[in-house]
Amino acid sequence: MIIITRKGVTDEELDHIRERVETLGLRTHVSRGEHRTVIGCVGDEERLRTIPLLSIPGVEAVHTVLKPYKLASREFVAGQGSRIRLGSCDVGGEELAVIAGPCSVEGLDMLRETGHRVRSAGAKALRGGAFKPRTSPYSFRGMGEEGLEILARVREETGLPVVTEVMDTRQVDLVASYADVLQVGARNMQNFALLSEVGRIRRPVLLKRGMSATVKDLLLAAEYVMSQGNPNVILCERGIRTFETATRNTFDLAAIPVLKQETHLPVVADPSHAGGRRDLVAPLSYAAVAAGADGLLVEVHPDPETATSDGDQSLDFGEFEGLMSGLKAFAAAAGRTLNPLAAASVSG
Ligand code: PEP
Ligand code: MN
Repeated sequence: MIIITRKGVTDEELDHIRERVETLGLRTHVSRGEHRTVIGCVGDEERLRTIPLLSIPGVEAVHTVLKPYKLASREFVAGQGSRIRLGSCDVGGEELAVIAGPCSVEGLDMLRETGHRVRSAGAKALRGGAFKPRTSPYSFRGMGEEGLEILARVREETGLPVVTEVMDTRQVDLVASYADVLQVGARNMQNFALLSEVGRIRRPVLLKRGMSATVKDLLLAAEYVMSQGNPNVILCERGIRTFETATRNTFDLAAIPVLKQETHLPVVADPSHAGGRRDLVAPLSYAAVAAGADGLLVEVHPDPETATSDGDQSLDFGEFEGLMSGLKAFAAAAGRTLNPLAAASVSG
């Protein structure tokens, strides 16, 4: 249930409304908009119906949220969508948040070089897996903590925040002690223990859509994180499994505008895993931006041919710079900005 307060509601009135709701055993989440403040109430709604909510000073209206996801639903915040701070950029704001880097951290030199190159091309954050979910147990499974140390070092040198995957509840504190954003991968999107664990901390979570998950499943996974107290969830469309075999996954473009309607959370797209081929990264990126994505997650490697994972879909530096410069027109058409510094350095 959401309580919409009247214009100019005072802090005392807000506190009083929350107190009335919380004494009934429900939890409250306040969202302040430019004109209105909304109080989201989660818990047993039947109990709320036992009190005359409209008679509490400051309350203007009360709505029932019919969607199964409450905190993630669009109605739950007043005004525009949520913005999540990522270094110098707000994911969900006007500027497109491009997160780029290798699939796996393979060493200091390659990550350092990648960090500098993607930053000067306009990326806002550096990605790189230290703990890798691999289909085969015999494939390279990441550098582990050493990889996290490398990420932190490159962050210091480049100023770029780092995004890396956490695969296991036992690793959450360790990964959070190094990373700016915790990635929950497609294979773990419904690992409810892990979702609850990353909900316990405040660090932003990049939640990737499971390969067989519906939009509703994805939003309910976000709800798990948020219901533990962490509102900082960025959703990621990365392609789903279908009967089509021409691409690694099927990029569900429509999920982007659908998610933007359903939720206030920022939505980014991962054209690398969606297509699984480097030649598809640019067209899928342009389409994602045109469809309303707030950012992109792109795999970039100094020498894709030698990558320990996902080389086929990784861009080299020149290709990434080309992507960033091609994106300019699509960003502008979608009413977005792309780091102007980046545009200058790419053409220079
Ligand atoms: C990745 O980002 O490298 C990754 C493993 O992604 P996904 O979980 O979407 O497969
Ligand atoms: Mn990958």
